[in-house]
Amino acid sequence: MKAAVYTTEKRLVVREVPDPIAGDDEIIMKVKYCAICGSDIHRYIYGMVKPGTILGHEFSGTVAAMGKKVSGFKIGDRIARWGGKITRGRDQPNFPPRYSAKERGFLPMFAGAYAQYMAIHADKVVKLPDEVSDIDAALLEPLTVAVHAVRLSKIMLGDFVVVIAAGPIGLFTIQCAKLAGALKILVSEINETRLQVASILGADYGVNPLRGDVVQQVVDLTQIGADVVFECAGAKNTLQQSLEMAKMGGQVVVVALCWEQAECLPVEWVGREVEMKASYGHLNSEWAISLDLMRLGKISTQPLITGIIELPEIDNAFRELLEPHSRSVQIVVKT
Ligand SMILES: [Zn+2]
Repeated sequence: MKAAVYTTEKRLVVREVPDPIAGDDEIIMKVKYCAICGSDIHRYIYGMVKPGTILGHEFSGTVAAMGKKVSGFKIGDRIARWGGKITRGRDQPNFPPRYSAKERGFLPMFAGAYAQYMAIHADKVVKLPDEVSDIDAALLEPLTVAVHAVRLSKIMLGDFVVVIAAGPIGLFTIQCAKLAGALKILVSEINETRLQVASILGADYGVNPLRGDVVQQVVDLTQIGADVVFECAGAKNTLQQSLEMAKMGGQVVVVALCWEQAECLPVEWVGREVEMKASYGHLNSEWAISLDLMRLGKISTQPLITGIIELPEIDNAFRELLEPHSRSVQIVVKT
C-alpha cells in the first residue's frame, strides 16, 4: 500500500510500504479521510518521531479485514477513531503519577492513517451512524478535545467567554462553549482567515491581538473581565494574556501545549484569585458526547475544512499550515 512516511530529512514522502496485517483484536481499516492535526505538525517540525513512522490519528474509513477475536463489525462498516473501552468506575487515562506531556513527547500510539490502510485495535474505532458523514467523523478527535476542555470549565449560562486562537481546537471550543451556555464569545487570533471562520461559527467578537490590546478590549466589553478563558494558542505570551483578562475568581482553561517558557507575571492576576485548570486530551466517555453532538447537527465542520487533498500533497500541506498567515484552517487528506 501507499503511505506518507516521515523521513530523516523531516519530510513526509509517499512510499510503498507493506500492507498492515490484523492482530487478533485488530481491524484493518481502509482509510477514507485523515485530518491534519496541529500535534502532527509539531512532531513534523521538531522531529519528535522516528524516521519511517506513519502519522495521522484523526481518521475515518471502512472495515477491510478483522482479526479472529473481533466481533460486532463486518466488512464494509463505516468506522472512525474512538476513545476506547470505559472500565467501570474508571474513566481517567492510565498515566503514571508523574506523567509529563513533555517527556512523553508526541509519540504516536499506533501506525497512522496518512496511508491507504491501517491496523487499529477494535476498541479504538466506532461504527458510524448514518447522520455523521465520513469527513465529519475524521474530526471527532479534535472535537472531543474541545468537549473535554469545556466540560472541565465552570461555564455557566450567560457567561462571557474568551477563546485564544481559532485553529481547529479553538473553533470547536467556541461551538462547545456556546452549547454549554456561554452568551458572548470573544476570539483572539492573529490570522484573519481564522477570525472570519470563528465569526461564522458563533464568535461574537473577533480581535487581532497584533492590532490592539486584547486584554483591554475584554475589560471594556465586560467591565470586570472574562468569566472563562480557553487558552488554545500555546504561544509565549498567551498564558499571561489569558490570566490577565479573567475576572475576579474567573477561570483559565489551558488547552494548548506550549513547548517554550511561557512569560508570566503573577502579580498582575494573583490578587484576583484567578483559577487555572489544565485540560489534556479527552476521557473515553467523552467521545460518545462528540458523536452525539455531530449526529444531532449541533456542530458545524464545513467552515473549518479549507482543503481536501490527496496523499502526495501532504508535505506541501504541512508546510502551508506552518505559515502564520496561511488561509488554511483544517486540511483533510482523502485517501
Ligand atoms: Zn489531533
